[in-house]
Amino acid sequence: SDQPQGYRRVLLKISGEGFSSGGATGVNVADVAKLAGQLAEIATSGTQLAVVVGGGNIIRGARFSAGTEMIQEATAHYMGMLGTVINGLALQDALENIGCETRLMTAIRMDGFAEPFIRRRCTRHLEHGRVVILACGTGNPFVTTDTAAALRACEIGADIVLKATRVDGVYSDDPEKNPHAVLYERLSYKEVISDKLAVMDVTAIGLCMENNIPIVVFNYLKEGNIARAVAGERVGTLVGD
Ligand code: UDP
Repeated sequence: SDQPQGYRRVLLKISGEGFSSGGATGVNVADVAKLAGQLAEIATSGTQLAVVVGGGNIIRGARFSAGTEMIQEATAHYMGMLGTVINGLALQDALENIGCETRLMTAIRMDGFAEPFIRRRCTRHLEHGRVVILACGTGNPFVTTDTAAALRACEIGADIVLKATRVDGVYSDDPEKNPHAVLYERLSYKEVISDKLAVMDVTAIGLCMENNIPIVVFNYLKEGNIARAVAGERVGTLVGD
C-alpha cells in the first residue's frame, strides 16, 4: 500500500496561524482550545506525539527585519523564536486543562518554565505518553520552524512529519488565486524541491529526504483530520520517495 498504517511516533508541525485565525497577531484562546482538543485525541489513541510550534502569528524574523534597518535580522529571528515559546506555553496549558500530560522543551534555555531540549529526555517523555511541545525552533537564527520540525523528526526517530495547514494539501498553484490549481495526492521529495512547491523550506525537505521520513501536508481545520493523518489514512498530500 501507498501509506503505512498507524504511526507510532509522529512529529506534528503547527504554524503560528493555528494559534490565531484570520491572520491576526497574538494568541486566540478559542483557536488554541480547538487545537488542543484535536491533539488530545491523538495522545489518548496511544500515538507518541511531539509538536513543533511556529510563531508566525507573533513575528516572522525575515519579514520583520526587512521593515527596519534598526533591528538586525538575527535579532528579529530571536524575537521570532520567542514567539514560538508564547504559543508553546498557551498550548501546554490548553492541553493540561483537558487532562493531557505535556512537557514544554525549548531549544534555548528558558529555565523558569520549560525544560531544555535534550534528545533522550524528549524520547523518554514520548514513551511515557506525554505530548512534547518543542519551542524556539532549532535555536538558531535564519531558519524556520519547518526546519526545526524536520530536524527534530530525524533526531527522535519520528515515523512521519505531519505539516498542519489551512489548505487541503499541496497544489500546483495557489488555489485561492487560480481556480485550475490541482491538489497533488503524492509527490516525491525531488519534485517538491525542483518545482519549488510550497511544502516546507528546502532545508526541511532535504533533511526528510536524506533520512527517509515522509511528510504529509493536510488541512487540520477539517474535523478529525489530524486523527486521520496520524492513523495513516489518506489525507492531504504525501511527500516521499
Ligand atoms: N525562527 C528562527 N529559528 C528557528 C525557528 C524559527 O530564527 O529555528 C524564527 C524565524 O524568524 C521565524 C520565526 O522564528 O520566522 C517564527 O517561526 P516560523 O516563521 O517558522 O513560524 P510559522 O511560519 O510556522 O508560523
